[in-house]
Amino acid sequence: MEKQNVIIIGSGPAGLTAAIYTARANLKPLLFAGSVYGGQLMTTTEVENFPGFPEGVTGPVLMQQMIQQAERFGTQFKYENISRTDFSDPTNLRVWSGDQEYAARAIIVATGSTPRKLGLPSEDTLWGHGVSSCATCDGAFYKGKDVAVIGGGDSAMEEAAFLTHFANKVHVIHRRDQLRASKIMADRAMANPKIEFIWNTGIEEVLGSEKVTGLRLKNLVSGDITELPLDGMFLAIGHLPTTDFLKDTAGQSQVALDAQGFVLATDHTRTNIAGVFVAGDVHDHHYQQAITAAGMGCMAAMDAEKWLEMNG
Ligand code: NAP
Repeated sequence: MEKQNVIIIGSGPAGLTAAIYTARANLKPLLFAGSVYGGQLMTTTEVENFPGFPEGVTGPVLMQQMIQQAERFGTQFKYENISRTDFSDPTNLRVWSGDQEYAARAIIVATGSTPRKLGLPSEDTLWGHGVSSCATCDGAFYKGKDVAVIGGGDSAMEEAAFLTHFANKVHVIHRRDQLRASKIMADRAMANPKIEFIWNTGIEEVLGSEKVTGLRLKNLVSGDITELPLDGMFLAIGHLPTTDFLKDTAGQSQVALDAQGFVLATDHTRTNIAGVFVAGDVHDHHYQQAITAAGMGCMAAMDAEKWLEMNG
């Protein structure tokens, strides 16, 4: 089996930037883009804060351009998911896509994160039937309807504002009485006449059999239970890192994770495994921006390049 110089796992801004840099360094990276490529920006509309686009750019266009740029310098793409890894021999880092094994001298993990769920059975049953985590994807189905956004962070504010383009009313339901969102996003949402906040409130149940008809809510201060008729619920309660492929059958990850399950970076982008580097949201649960992920992708590429130079 041919051993690659670098295998990059993930095709968001972190993975693609790592690809551009390692490809330009003549390392001929092999990038596993996943069956659904491009990461979370593929479900975003306008990106206004990525430098270099004064008029904004849509998430999918930005990702397509990054892919073209990585291809231009010789990145090989495979639109497959890595399901398993074995990093027990640092001189032969192995990954699998289905039954197909690949080996590399360096690996860059850039698999990002996925939206967190509440963990209610009714949420799963009604997923895609009124429960969603992507206003950009599903917002247009709610013209003139009433919806809720769950969460109090920037994502919740963004989703709520976006949904006001379609919905009649957007309830933002938050478990505390203070938002986590940045002041500018919070102020914008508060000033929007279509957005109504429901504070100190948890979701007990998503109501409806074939589609969402409402939510059973619990006031977390008084304990009061109420029902709110609705047509849709959008989750914006944070993200979980994509790390399952790093774990063995007992759920143990060879690559060290932090208390919240994100990949730990020790020295810049190095992980605890020699030759394995990390970039983007699978590590970073603080900034979680396209530009910071891209920046870390560049760092991981440069660290991997140095590593390969030093280790033959
Ligand atoms: P976040 O900042 O972690 O906020 C998650 C929200 O969900 C919090 O308000 C949290 O409540 C709530 N929450 C978490 N688990 C919950 C549960 N089980 N039940 C009910 N509520 C729950 O996540 P985010 O909003 O996705 O933002 C992540 C990062 O991306 C942030 O750095 C943010 O600034 C950035 N971001 C930026 C933009 C932008 O600038 N355009 C847009 C989106 C996101 P508590 O507050 O009580 O913890």
